[in-house]
Amino acid sequence: MKITHVEVHPVGVPAADPPFRWRQGLAGSAPKGDGAVLHIGTDSGAEGVALFARPGAAVMLEDLVERVFRDELIGQDPYQREWLWHRIWELDRIQELPLPAFGLVDVALWDLAARVRDQPVWQLLGGYRTAIPAYASTSTFSTTAEFLDVADQCLKLGYHGIKLHAWGDARKDAELCLALRAHVGADIPLMYDGSAGFDLPDAIYLGRALAEANFLWYEEPMREFSISAYQRLAQSTTVPLLVAETSDGAHMNSADFITAGAATFGVRAGTTLRGGITGAMRTAHLADAYRLRAEVHGSDIPNHHLCMAISNTTYYESLVTSVDVKRERHVDQNGLVQAPQGPGIALPYELEYGKALQSFVETPKY
Ligand SMILES: [Mg+2]
Repeated sequence: MKITHVEVHPVGVPAADPPFRWRQGLAGSAPKGDGAVLHIGTDSGAEGVALFARPGAAVMLEDLVERVFRDELIGQDPYQREWLWHRIWELDRIQELPLPAFGLVDVALWDLAARVRDQPVWQLLGGYRTAIPAYASTSTFSTTAEFLDVADQCLKLGYHGIKLHAWGDARKDAELCLALRAHVGADIPLMYDGSAGFDLPDAIYLGRALAEANFLWYEEPMREFSISAYQRLAQSTTVPLLVAETSDGAHMNSADFITAGAATFGVRAGTTLRGGITGAMRTAHLADAYRLRAEVHGSDIPNHHLCMAISNTTYYESLVTSVDVKRERHVDQNGLVQAPQGPGIALPYELEYGKALQSFVETPKY
């Protein structure tokens, strides 16, 4: 089998409503409609797709396909995923590919291979579980009272834990975390995500408060450029650190966080920033070798598959963006996310972008 087509289709993607907000003015959600699908087709008719949803997605992906990916992929065997994954690292040396675009070819090739076998991707990877608990990953809300009210609603809806994205002010955030612990009691898993809002002194101050409040993990308090800063943080607080979410270099970078003693809870392992499914699985296996967790980052469909295939992950991350909390569509009344059942990645065809996908996947063009 040979790859014969590499195309980009701009598609509408439903935006979070209201949009996800971090700290002060860090908008995280792509605007509605700002998405693109990478479509890889073959001479046998087998095909795979990967959805790219972020600001500027269509322009960015069209440029990469026109200049780089199409010429590289046409004529290649789509089952040579390892070869092609390494080839994209080679291309990255010159192109400095945007991290979220790095794994798209890999995700589309996993989708293709699993569709040919009429299996979900997680089964092809090797299933570990068929359902996983979801935690509520909050937007930044305005007041402590709003955060506490959202926490109550999330727990009532069945969520198994709560992760805060708060204001990025070490003193205020420390008070919020202590107030939340007092409010929900000792048994609810709580996590804090700094989204890189701090320098080392403030990260240490907040880390000590999180330790006092018995938080399960403390995620990305600083930009992940300096592993030695994270090493100092790990030596200065006992709250477990979850790191290497946005840093470049997939498992090769995660390895240095681990051996520096900075990943005291574990590392991040989503498809978006670790080089697709192949990169995320490498990262998860690396962490497993050190008996650490590899927590799946993000809530898109490829990450559902990772949640079912990575043994050393704990939760599915479900975004909560409104003070009037509604369960995300994938989370059931018990706060669980079930394994995807369709062949391949199984993107949801009932959504707007799914209809666009379906129209070209079901229409033979060659
Ligand atoms: Mg994070």
